[in-house]
Formats: sequence, C-alpha cells, structure tokens
Amino acid sequence: MKQKHIIVIEDEKDILDVLEYNLKREGFRVSTSSDGKAGLNMVRQDKPDLVLLDIMLPEIDGLEICRILKNESSTRAIPIIMVTAKEEESDVVLGLGLGADDYVTKPFSPKELIARIKAMLRRSNETDKTGSSSVITLGPLQIDPEKYSVKLSNQTLNLTRTEFRILYKLTSQPGRVFSREQLMQDAMGEHVVVSDRNIDVHIRAIRKSLGEHQKLVETVRNVGYRLKDNFDQGL
Ligand code: CA
Repeated sequence: MKQKHIIVIEDEKDILDVLEYNLKREGFRVSTSSDGKAGLNMVRQDKPDLVLLDIMLPEIDGLEICRILKNESSTRAIPIIMVTAKEEESDVVLGLGLGADDYVTKPFSPKELIARIKAMLRRSNETDKTGSSSVITLGPLQIDPEKYSVKLSNQTLNLTRTEFRILYKLTSQPGRVFSREQLMQDAMGEHVVVSDRNIDVHIRAIRKSLGEHQKLVETVRNVGYRLKDNFDQGL
C-alpha cells in the first residue's frame, strides 16, 4: 500500500515533534512547516493526502490557509483537520465553515488524533470510488452521495464532508432519532472517540447552511437529532 503523506503546519515545536513522532510511527510520510506561508506553498506543491493545520500561525493563519486551499480546485479535495489551541467555538465553527473537515482541540491525545486521521483517510478513499448509494430527495432537499452534493431548492450547499455524512444519515430515515454517537460514528468511522460538542458544532454548521430551512434538523432533548419528516408544515 502506498504510504500516505501528511503535512503538518504547526509553529509550536513541542507539539510538532509529538505529532511528527506519532505519525511516523504509524507509517505515515510526514512533512512539517512552522509558518503559514511556507506550509501553504508546501501543500500546493506536494498535494498531500491530509493536512493537519494549526490556527494561530505566523505569516498566514490557519483559517486563511484553510479558506485558500478549499477555494483552489487543485487542493480542495485534500482533507484538513484543524488543530486549535483555543477553546473558543467561534474559531472552530469558522474553520468548519471554511471547509475544514474536522478539528481537534489542544491538548489532544495522539491516539485519538491518529484514529481521526485514519477515519478521514478511509472516507477520503471511499469517496474516490463510485458510491452505491442513491440520490435522496426530500422536500426542498436533494442529496447525491456519489457527488457529495446537497441542493436546497436547487441551490448547491457548501458542506464539509463530515457535515454531508451527518445530513445524509439523517435524511436516510426522516423522523428517526439518531443519537450523537450514531451520527458521529457514521460520519467519522468506528472506534473514534468524539465529544458531544463536536457533533453539535457540525449540526450548527449544517443548520446555518440550511438557512430558512434550518428547522428541518430537529434537536431531540437528551437524545440526539432527527430530520423533520413532515415536509408540508413549518418549512
Ligand atoms: Ca500556533
């Protein structure tokens, strides 16, 4: 199997060393950059399989790098996991809104991060192959799993891969309640430990994309989420 290449952009040397050590031990090829500008150019040139991206960086910050990479056709498909030192949700939401595929908050356990990376690479692989799932149409929503595309009243929504997976799961059985764990496991792959907050952030981003139709995704208190199954009311 071809060795997967990961680029880590991180300016804190201690964290960079830990990441590099753990990733190499898992058999990944690792390149590192400690400033945003050099890191951005490295990704553009090398087209790695995945990018680990710190938010606070010299030269160009991580959010801007994410925005640039997700806007360029040659780098758009490369999964990005944001690594954020701040607990502030606003940064995370902003990052996911710019197209980042996942995030971890420092301090993180290398083991969990590796699991998340593997899940992301696996999904990224699956996406390359032709999916067998069919297009779902529900009220104003049209979801095409092969193209990873969601249309709302014929307008294409800009969802991240993770958001797409969550929404696809919800629309696969409208009215059924899914727990946070179920949604995250489906979106992120099995054996991945995720916090409740993680799914809530993704749901918030999905609702934001749905705009006036955001009530389609309902919160079921203490349980999880479901997709509204009555499309005649309240849309
Ligand atoms: Ca930093």
